[in-house]
Amino acid sequence: MFITAQFDSGNIEVIDATNENAIELKIRKDHQSDFYQWFHFKLYGELGAEHVMQITNAGESAYPDGWKDYSAVASYDRETWFRVPTSFDGKTLTIRHTLEQESVYFAYFTPYSYERHQDLVQSAQQSSLVEHVWLGPTLDGRDMNLLVIGEPADNKRKVWITARQHPGESMAEWFIEGLLGRLLDDEDGAARKLLQDTVFYVVPNMNPDGSVRGHLRTNAVGTNLNREWHEPSLQRSPEVYYVLQAMQESGVDLYLDIHGDENLPYNFLAGCEGVPCYKDSHAKLAQRFKDTLLAITPEFQVAHGYDVDAPGEANLTVASNAVAERFKCLAFTLEMPFKDNANLPDEDFGWSANRSAQLGADVLSAVYAVAKNLRD
Ligand SMILES: [Zn+2]
Repeated sequence: MFITAQFDSGNIEVIDATNENAIELKIRKDHQSDFYQWFHFKLYGELGAEHVMQITNAGESAYPDGWKDYSAVASYDRETWFRVPTSFDGKTLTIRHTLEQESVYFAYFTPYSYERHQDLVQSAQQSSLVEHVWLGPTLDGRDMNLLVIGEPADNKRKVWITARQHPGESMAEWFIEGLLGRLLDDEDGAARKLLQDTVFYVVPNMNPDGSVRGHLRTNAVGTNLNREWHEPSLQRSPEVYYVLQAMQESGVDLYLDIHGDENLPYNFLAGCEGVPCYKDSHAKLAQRFKDTLLAITPEFQVAHGYDVDAPGEANLTVASNAVAERFKCLAFTLEMPFKDNANLPDEDFGWSANRSAQLGADVLSAVYAVAKNLRD
């Protein structure tokens, strides 16, 4: 038997891999941080034998409730990721799988690799609609990518979409892939019409260093980027610093920040009701945005989500709140599940890469529904 996590977004520490019935593992903490929950590793084992993997530090992870009713994903071909029997006793996460081939990958959620990220950005660059902007370097020396879609002009509305501030939330980049697919399709009527008077600014991956390092929540120096938006710095959070600078140059009329939620088995939006500038017109547009999604997809719902901030009580270090307040605009955090959509469960795959991409495509319809009124 052999277990390795020495690859892009790999994360596991092997404690004991001598007995396939009692493999002991631990998840590594994010570098210079106490957060951990993301795992991704490859196992070579005995064909036809059941392998029982115990992640013994699961109970002290960032979101222990995230392991309740959760099933890990596995893949033989690194394309199809299916759910495997998983249980949690409050302390240890146990994953069971009988090997059908010599080696298999396991992960917290379907990974979105750095290679795929680079392919996504370069493929978008091929479109005549796209300007690919280098925003600056990350602390590990990677490039921060911004895709500007549509011809910028002062009178056009500006829609900003960022994903994966928390690198372990790989569903957020699958979402972006679906959204871009639709936005760059010149036979998509809504996209074509939108682009006549709207420019999209898309950052597919806010945290490439954390993604490659196999982090859950932080960048190369342990910074949670989604608490840096009040005052980002080049030392701790250059990713946010560059994006905020680019927002300042373009302006923002609508902002969507795409995430995954460890606990709740639903897709939902968190609004900015608690920012000082929130007004009636924002509430009306927010309602229309949600109503549109409710009308077109059973993957979205409004019954479950975060508590709504009281007026003036918003945390202004969080991206959506900070951007809403600074640009006096409509903004949302969009959350997808690691588990499944409990309103439409799928036992084999749970919430998946494809469903995330479909939701990304569908969200364009909600943008279409509010775009005309973003400056009212
Ligand atoms: Zn997040």
